[in-house]
Amino acid sequence: MTGLRLETFPIGVSAGTASVLGLRKIRLMEEPTTAHFLFGEDCVNQCAFCAQARGSKASPDHLSRVTWPRFSWETLKGPMESAITRGVFKRVCVQTVECSDSQGPAFEFLEEIRKMSSEVFISVAVAPVSVSRVKLFFDKGATNVGLPIDAASPEVYERVKGGSFERAWTVVEEAAKTWPGRVSTHLIVGLGETEEDAVKFLLRARSAGITVGLFAFTPVRGTAMEKAPPPDVGHYRRVQLAAYFLKRGGDAGKIELRDGRIVGIVLDREDLKAEVLSGRPFETSGCLYCNRPYYNERPGQVMMNYPRTLTEEEAARALRESGLF
Ligand code: SF4
Repeated sequence: MTGLRLETFPIGVSAGTASVLGLRKIRLMEEPTTAHFLFGEDCVNQCAFCAQARGSKASPDHLSRVTWPRFSWETLKGPMESAITRGVFKRVCVQTVECSDSQGPAFEFLEEIRKMSSEVFISVAVAPVSVSRVKLFFDKGATNVGLPIDAASPEVYERVKGGSFERAWTVVEEAAKTWPGRVSTHLIVGLGETEEDAVKFLLRARSAGITVGLFAFTPVRGTAMEKAPPPDVGHYRRVQLAAYFLKRGGDAGKIELRDGRIVGIVLDREDLKAEVLSGRPFETSGCLYCNRPYYNERPGQVMMNYPRTLTEEEAARALRESGLF
């Protein structure tokens, strides 16, 4: 699966990244600290939420609610080199679509970015198909590889993504064992899981040393789930709180569950309590420096993930929305 060479490959650039690079004029409410790129279109998989899925009628320039205009490497190279050298982007994230021609150009892209800087963090998000493929991306210079499982439980996985939840986990866990601290996954909240499912997912990831990036399901027109509602904000906030609590070493027994719902989290550590009250759990989660502004919401809507530190008022509101504090 080598496919087209980088010079002739149309590279998707998230609208925010394109704006920072001076290639698109949009008003940015928050600047992205990670540059996001999309390689490929027309995925062979059929994830019901995804604009790139086989059978989706969504615009091929979409992923979640973000548009990804395409540019040539020739156009991108200069602005990228300058932005990386100036420290504008601390991380580069390459999202790959499962199609025949995306991998070869993605490899070349990684090598080109590595030539620009040996220090900039590079993440690759690729379907958890095999550990041998994960190795190929690390060999090309990735610092982290994200293997999105997306769904919190086997039932949701089967219904929304098709295939085996356990097989996906096996690849992710095996990769995390091989490259400790360098493997992450994504969890999309709002696909029909219970909060208990999400807690189990987060615990499993924690015990394997896997970082979790939380996303709120965002219905995209033209996808199989276009009419499904986004998650209730309280549901999302409670999962964010549990994710943060567990990430910071909180004791799983302190998360109180009833009928699949989180009904309490006992904050008996002063440091953790202060962080929670300051709103840290509601900031974008995932790889270091990935803030993904407005990936799941429009400006002006409830911010599911804050791309920056919250104000006191925002933190208080988010805590109220959780229904727990
Ligand atoms: S958390 Fe951000 S940088 Fe990391 S793989 Fe996901 S989208 Fe990319």
